[in-house]
Amino acid sequence: MQKYQMYIGGEWTDPAGGEWFDSFNPFTGKPWAQIPKGGAADVDWAVAAAKEAFETGEWPQKTATQRGHLLRKLGDLIAEKAQALAATEVRDNGKLMAEMLGQLNYIPQWYYYFGGLADKIEGSVIPTDKPDTLNYTKHEPLGVVGAITAWNSPLLLIAWKTAPGLAAGNTFVLKPSEFTSASALEFVELVEEAGFPPGVVNVVTGFGQEVGAPLVEHPDVAKIAFTGSEAGGRSVYETAARGIKKVTLELGGKSPNIVFDDANIDDAVKGVISGIFAATGQTCIAGSRLLVQESIHDEFMEKLVAFAKTARMGDPSDMDTQVGPVTTQPQYEKILHYIDVATKEGANCELGGGPATRPECGNGWFVEPTIFSGVSNDMRIAQEEVFGPVLATIPFKDEEDALRIANDSNYGLAAGVWTQSIPRAIRMSDRLRAGTVWVNTYRAVSYTSPFGGYKRSGVGRENGMEAIQEYMQTKSVWINTGSEVPNPFALR
Ligand code: NAD
Repeated sequence: MQKYQMYIGGEWTDPAGGEWFDSFNPFTGKPWAQIPKGGAADVDWAVAAAKEAFETGEWPQKTATQRGHLLRKLGDLIAEKAQALAATEVRDNGKLMAEMLGQLNYIPQWYYYFGGLADKIEGSVIPTDKPDTLNYTKHEPLGVVGAITAWNSPLLLIAWKTAPGLAAGNTFVLKPSEFTSASALEFVELVEEAGFPPGVVNVVTGFGQEVGAPLVEHPDVAKIAFTGSEAGGRSVYETAARGIKKVTLELGGKSPNIVFDDANIDDAVKGVISGIFAATGQTCIAGSRLLVQESIHDEFMEKLVAFAKTARMGDPSDMDTQVGPVTTQPQYEKILHYIDVATKEGANCELGGGPATRPECGNGWFVEPTIFSGVSNDMRIAQEEVFGPVLATIPFKDEEDALRIANDSNYGLAAGVWTQSIPRAIRMSDRLRAGTVWVNTYRAVSYTSPFGGYKRSGVGRENGMEAIQEYMQTKSVWINTGSEVPNPFALR
């Protein structure tokens, strides 16, 4: 068992309460690491360190260009350690090595991109209507950011927050998921090695109520950047509202993957598989509602089921494995519960429908890739996020019908459209109420492209140029260039 410490104010430290908790390997079902069980006292200490680092010392003295250099150095260090960090994440969340190594190899790009952007955030000189004045704007950092993240892509989600947030000049207290804290504690070693001053990035590990909630409540935290469930996001939003804090929320989804009868069927089958069975369905952007045009429904389902049957399950650290275990035992039980709900609601189970008992799955928390047909959009299996390898298939007649069903959801994170018709692709992209629309592809994300949710899928955007503004505020500066101060009793 590996025993970790937290990182606060540039020091490795034991939790104030003196307790640790186990982190489990989802493939073996056994604990592999001990994680410090932080609490409100640790949060207080970390926020004080982040506040001090924001206000005094080296960090606020650094130019934007110097912050950019540090971010690029951090990107280089992550690139060097990608294999080891990916191995930690696979051990902790059970996702495939192929997926996590792909993420870790890609994460440096966030630090290069936002490192490059750091000194390109320009204010403006405003042509005002007032004579004898100079008015200009500056974009300034917010202060201490509390970053709270989910377990499915631990360091990717941290990169989406820290890269723009540090480029903007903020300081951070990170609170990774209690299920996958180890990689954040290894990442922060690289932050130190890159040369970030003490207190700029702090990590407090522990549970949502014991660490997350006090972090959101803390009066010295200026902004919360949250990735997690709708329920967690709502609680964070309510608490942050009381403190009038800035907030970004990246929450769940029930994204439609829509296949028209003019699609390339073989491509669409692969797109649907990637939408729901990649990462064992544990992605916010899972294409968990398959909408298939009635005219090709039976042919498509036959091909889809045949392809899904070939998915290789097993050890996630084996590069050939295609579907790994579910990350946590509660999540495993939740998925099985939803399979039960769908069956009771009258959906037809075309594939899977229960725990995977194949020998290669050992004692891990595995669920068979599961496909339901005959789903109607008002069923719970079509409206609620399962966050697992469970697909709900809904037939549709025509474009209007597809749009009506697709948009009839509380969520709006992403959508997929499969068609050979360019006009149709554009019409659908215009009218789908989702933050990301993919046409003839699925699960493409980049540091260059804004990502976020419509409706209950979230607030604000991560990635791309606009993400940095989520970590900045605008100051308007007025200078009197005249020789006298005008009438003091009138608004100038
Ligand atoms: P979760 O809401 O249970 O937990 C997320 C984080 O919030 C954890 O660190 C947890 O400890 C903390 N937390 C929970 N309650 C809190 C509270 N009241 N106050 C402060 N912190 C609290 O979510 P999860 O189960 O870890 O993650 C799965 C969810 O995340 C899914 O809904 C998925 O769609 C979503 N997700 C969204 C994105 C995105 O970018 N939109 C990406 C990944 C995951």
